[in-house]
Amino acid sequence: MSQHDDHDDIEEVDVNISFEFFPPKTEAGFTKLAEVRDRLAAQAPDFFSVTYGAGGSTRERTFQAVKMVRESGIDTAPHLSCIGSDKAEIRDILAGYKADGVSRIVALRGDLPSGMGPGGAGEFPFARDLVEFIRKEHGDHFHIEVAAYPEVHPQAASFETDLANFLAKVKAGASSAITQYFYNPDAYFHFMDRVMDEGVEIPVVPGIMPITNVANLVRFSEGCGAEIPRWLRKQLEAYQHDDESVRLFGIEVVSGLCETMLSAGAPGLHFYTMNQVEPTLAILRNLGMPVVD
Ligand code: FAD
Repeated sequence: MSQHDDHDDIEEVDVNISFEFFPPKTEAGFTKLAEVRDRLAAQAPDFFSVTYGAGGSTRERTFQAVKMVRESGIDTAPHLSCIGSDKAEIRDILAGYKADGVSRIVALRGDLPSGMGPGGAGEFPFARDLVEFIRKEHGDHFHIEVAAYPEVHPQAASFETDLANFLAKVKAGASSAITQYFYNPDAYFHFMDRVMDEGVEIPVVPGIMPITNVANLVRFSEGCGAEIPRWLRKQLEAYQHDDESVRLFGIEVVSGLCETMLSAGAPGLHFYTMNQVEPTLAILRNLGMPVVD
């Protein structure tokens, strides 16, 4: 979509908004996802996406969620992680999506389940291998999104090797990228300076994680290498037994981050919704975007 907002700093910016969901585990979760989908579809987003458990652990649930989310009529991108998979499996999944009319994929490596040795990587050790495979087998049919890490992927030896990996994914045929979430805008700006110095022209959209549950956020951030700045962590810890304060403070902080991103010319915002409507809509309202309630 092209959402024009009337905020002073960002009025001329075309903002691409997208919303990410995870495949629920229960019938009740699917019922809730249908409601979330409908309310966020009313925002006319650019696309929805649905995550995929590495090693195919959510394979059927992801298919089911993609099907349900696509009923909204909004372009929907299944995530597809490749580690531990062979070509036959990936070929089969891609063919199924293509036959269903899916034209956008988020192509990822994923993480090996713990206990699986290095031999478990399968025929696609890195996301770049998956991007190459999709392009080789399907030409330009799929718009391919890849992951980017302004704060450096936790397994990367250095910023430079991780940047080189990102560039390799772009060269392999990525159409655009979504970042891991971050709360430090400078990390994104530094990454983008380097990416643009390298002549990359594809959009790199900041991934935005609304703050709702402090304990979950801290645990998840440790795993994925996203830094919670000290000032933010301290303030959240002070509020952690007061859900309403966490909610209000989280919306304020993340709205400010989004505003900074858009004012600086970020090409859009990708929201990790965690299958919740309100935190994301509150942020869009704060950005001055027309929110359909
Ligand atoms: P890659 O780009 O392959 O990079 C992985 C690591 O390998 C990096 O450290 C990189 O620097 C390094 N590397 C790459 N190439 C080489 C090489 N040739 N030699 C040595 N090192 C190399 N996970 C899921 O399981 N399901 C999801 O649905 C999902 N969705 C995501 C969506 C977004 C937007 C993001 C940012 C992440 C998502 N993840 C998901 C998490 C992701 O799978 C993990 O971060 C995973 O560890 C890396 O995946 P990648 O695609 O970035 O891997």
